[in-house]
Amino acid sequence: MSDKYSTRTAESSSDTAVVQWFRNPGCVDRSCPGGILAAKRTTDVDSHAQRLSPFGHVQRKDFMTDYDALVIGGGQSGLAAARALSRQGLDTAILEAGDEPVGSWPRYYDSLVLFSPGRYSSLPGMAFPGGEDRYPRRDEVIDYLRRYADTVDADILTHQRVDTVEYDGTGFTAHTAGGDTFTAPRLVAATGSFDSPYVPRLPGLDTFTGTVLHASEYREPTAFAGQHVIVVGAGNSAVQIAVELAEHAEVTLASRNPPKYLPQEPLGRPLHFWATVTGFDAAPIGPYLRTAPTQRVLDTGRYRRALTIGNPVPRSMFTSIDGTTVNWPDGTTSTADSVLLATGYAQHLPYLVGLGALDSTGRARHRGGISTTHPGLAYLGIDWQRTPSSASLRGVGRDAEFVAARLARTRKSTTTGLGSAKQ
Ligand SMILES: Cc1cc2nc3c(=O)[nH]c(=O)nc-3n(C[C@H](O)[C@H](O)[C@H](O)COP(=O)(O)OP(=O)(O)OC[C@H]3O[C@@H](n4cnc5c(N)ncnc54)[C@H](O)[C@@H]3O)c2cc1C
Repeated sequence: MSDKYSTRTAESSSDTAVVQWFRNPGCVDRSCPGGILAAKRTTDVDSHAQRLSPFGHVQRKDFMTDYDALVIGGGQSGLAAARALSRQGLDTAILEAGDEPVGSWPRYYDSLVLFSPGRYSSLPGMAFPGGEDRYPRRDEVIDYLRRYADTVDADILTHQRVDTVEYDGTGFTAHTAGGDTFTAPRLVAATGSFDSPYVPRLPGLDTFTGTVLHASEYREPTAFAGQHVIVVGAGNSAVQIAVELAEHAEVTLASRNPPKYLPQEPLGRPLHFWATVTGFDAAPIGPYLRTAPTQRVLDTGRYRRALTIGNPVPRSMFTSIDGTTVNWPDGTTSTADSVLLATGYAQHLPYLVGLGALDSTGRARHRGGISTTHPGLAYLGIDWQRTPSSASLRGVGRDAEFVAARLARTRKSTTTGLGSAKQ
């Protein structure tokens, strides 16, 4: 295993090239352009060294660009994928658009507390710290992912937004917004869904003269103090945000169907305990479902109570909006300052559109995370991809092991001379 923060030299298994690994000498705070780790496969170490910039960073064009596997997205799914691929002996790179490999967690709302206790919020190989039965906060997840990234034996290249991916029949080329290209015979798309908020067509919403925002843009409630806010949705985010906002604003929770609840701790144990001991959590039933089941609100009783006393006020979905006037099915009207859409997310895979890997709605064509259109292509982090826990901290590692084993096997059996898998 390599220590990715130290310099090392090794013979490549695929050719006679020397692989040199450099920790960016001046990149101690993870923020320098080009990312956490720079690495370069070259036959000429001296000339490579000369290409170091005067600031000690390896210039962007000098990254190693030919890998056994590429992972697009450096969140929990990307990290789990990279760990599993490297355990299959594959030289792996994560290409992450942001400045560190912590996924979308820093962009989630400030008060977020996990619905899963620490014991059920761990990725493979590293327990979530600080108490197994405690429900961690958002920032603890960010710290956890930072430390997890340090344990992953892969190149993590930040500020690398993948714009397009091409396939030539044997492997993939990823083109980044900065003009870099990376190649590999295997590619895992792990870019989550947070960058594709789903905005439903609601009658008159385009005439609304107040503020319209999606839950993905919501951070904290005080910005809405004194307003009338209509929160649209009936899932976990809708209810949590509506209840939090209701302490500062007049809030209506509008939804087609009333929220449905699940007790967070039935019979005194976390729901995830029961899902685990019954085997439900890991049941590979995802491929047999046509659509993901409706999300239920995990509740200790607090949310149901708040809605029962009308703070926030639950209402059937409005029929239309006209300016600031909102029309309700019972014929009444109200005015609103903001409409907050907690209406979910779609898969975020724009860089695969040209590849023909997606269906007409932009969703991956896959079975259990394995592409049904391109050998060597896989997905991670999709809701109900394989199991009920596929899109969660506790479940994505299981899928990562499955996908990595399949990718390693598929490529070995269907191609010759591809990649440089360590045997
Ligand atoms: C509000 C909220 C609360 C949640 N609470 C929990 C919880 O309590 N417990 C739990 O287990 N799960 C929870 N989840 C679900 C899930 O664990 C998270 O959504 C998680 O962040 C998904 O991880 P991911 O790696 O699949 O995607 P993301 O975290 O979205 O990471 C995707 C990464 O891909 C990068 N990326 C995107 N496009 C590109 C591109 N073109 N090129 C390169 N990089 C790109 C992004 O910058 C990002 O870093 C919650 C989700 C939400 C939205």
